[in-house]
Amino acid sequence: MSLPWLTEDERFIQETAQRFARERLAEGYLARSKEECIDRGLMRELGQLGLIAPTLDERYGGIGSSSVVAGLICEALAYADINVSYVPMIAPLVGGVIQQHGSEAMKDEVLPQLAGGEIMIQLGLTEPRGGSDAANLALRATPRGDCFVLNGEKTSITYGAQAEMMLLFARTDADTPGARGVTAFLVPLDLPGVTCTRFEDVGSRPVGRGSVFFDDVELPGTAMVGNLGEGFTKVMQGFDLSRFLIALQCVSAAQASVDETWQYVQQREAFGRPLAKFQGTTFPLAEHDSRLAAVRALCYQGLAARDRGLPHTKEAAMVKWMGPKWGTDIIQSCLVLHGHYGWGMELPHLQRMIDVMGLQIGDGTAHIMKTIIARETIGPIGVAYK
Ligand SMILES: Cc1cc2nc3c(=O)[nH]c(=O)nc-3n(C[C@H](O)[C@H](O)[C@H](O)COP(=O)(O)OP(=O)(O)OC[C@H]3O[C@@H](n4cnc5c(N)ncnc54)[C@H](O)[C@@H]3O)c2cc1C
Repeated sequence: MSLPWLTEDERFIQETAQRFARERLAEGYLARSKEECIDRGLMRELGQLGLIAPTLDERYGGIGSSSVVAGLICEALAYADINVSYVPMIAPLVGGVIQQHGSEAMKDEVLPQLAGGEIMIQLGLTEPRGGSDAANLALRATPRGDCFVLNGEKTSITYGAQAEMMLLFARTDADTPGARGVTAFLVPLDLPGVTCTRFEDVGSRPVGRGSVFFDDVELPGTAMVGNLGEGFTKVMQGFDLSRFLIALQCVSAAQASVDETWQYVQQREAFGRPLAKFQGTTFPLAEHDSRLAAVRALCYQGLAARDRGLPHTKEAAMVKWMGPKWGTDIIQSCLVLHGHYGWGMELPHLQRMIDVMGLQIGDGTAHIMKTIIARETIGPIGVAYK
């Protein structure tokens, strides 16, 4: 469905991303899903087209575009390969935090490499003790002279064992609990004392997750992103953007399955007529199309609000639970509408379903999203009732 209000520039980038998805990604999705890393050649091609971190300024390798454009790219790529679309989902998040709060030297060195597809930067927030209570971090960055010394573990981190750097959130003030004692750092992952592992996941294997261990890792003070003790609020602002992008990834992957299923029910026959003659097959597809269109519209409404500096946290939380949940359910329904063929790995539905399902957890679960929606609606629970 077209977005009639896009500018000419936005439409040009959307068409570029759609062409790349059609010509470079659509064929190989299932084969690439078995790999254990994202193809760096593909990343560089995306970088050359300006499709990795469009929201960054041109001087840092971006194209100075809107959040809407970041959404258009994620959506276009995820239609063909949701795993490759992680690249333009994560880069605007970590790149945005660095662009806004990093030093000039850091930005000049790192951001063009990120936007060009030369390096991967992972986001390190979750720790073994839990991810939902994200501010409750234990990993320590202890000041020592001009340096900080890192000790602890980050876990369940996207790009497990394949990233060059981590945007890491660590507790710099042991006496201040919660968000206020947390500082952000940009950490090269080849420093002495860093060990990366990779998990055996069911889905999104090329993206990967893993743990990163920090054992007396000495980090120069210049690695700090922003001010001491102010790291947490910075990433939270970025999450509003990535929540829209994740929802669009999921909606788009599900839309691919729905489009293919509309074709299938017209071709496949049962009881002497095409399946499409039975409303039992077409009504679910009509409902799927309706739900996906609604979430997609809310994504672009929220992204446009973000671009205009208007509130959008509630909308971001809404689409972040609906996109992955409904996306998973819709792909499952499409799989069943393909009968026994759907259950095989020759068709993409099962792979898409498990890839989308992981995003029900990554970046925060539906429980946490609904908590945010409640908070945005009635304020901190307990206070609004007084
Ligand atoms: C595919 C994937 C990618 C990820 N990528 C990253 C990454 O790049 N960087 C990173 O830092 N982390 C990443 N994560 C981790 C992710 O952010 C956490 O898994 C998530 O925030 C949940 O934390 P948890 O797994 O520790 O669950 P817990 O916090 O232990 O929660 C367990 C269950 O309890 C529920 N729950 C918790 N608190 C409440 C509450 N107050 N009310 C109701 N229910 C509640 C949760 O919703 C969940 O269902 C990723 C995870 C996945 C699966």
